[in-house]
Amino acid sequence: MGTTIKTNVGNCARCGGDHDGLEFTPFARPVVLAQSAGIAAVTHWALCPVTGEPIMLHIVSDEVQPQISLEGVLDAAYASETNVQISCFFDDGWTIKLGDHINGFTATAYARDASQLAAALDVLIMAHDPDGTYTSLVLQRQG
Ligand SMILES: [Zn+2]
Repeated sequence: MGTTIKTNVGNCARCGGDHDGLEFTPFARPVVLAQSAGIAAVTHWALCPVTGEPIMLHIVSDEVQPQISLEGVLDAAYASETNVQISCFFDDGWTIKLGDHINGFTATAYARDASQLAAALDVLIMAHDPDGTYTSLVLQRQG
């Protein structure tokens, strides 16, 4: 099931470096993180060439949930004291990181274009801290 995916890794979650053309192998049994937060599963893995530790790949859906605005997600992140860094690099899409350079980064996600940023950031924060202030702020707004 599934095929390998070759992609570039920016700011590797294991070593912090960049790896070009890393080949990700599909898991025989995908790792389910938080189905309630909208993440289906981490479906692929590769080994960081520097540390030899596994890097997980989670594919962000193209379907942007219409009720999530980037402004709303960023406001909720800010209000919940969740530090976020969003950057882009030409031809490599968008990188979203939770954390900051003082305390370190704890989670990373990628989006191909800006329209996917809100959903990707929302899922990333919820998966990283499902019981946190951010999640309760968003649930309150939806409730
Ligand atoms: Zn690495």
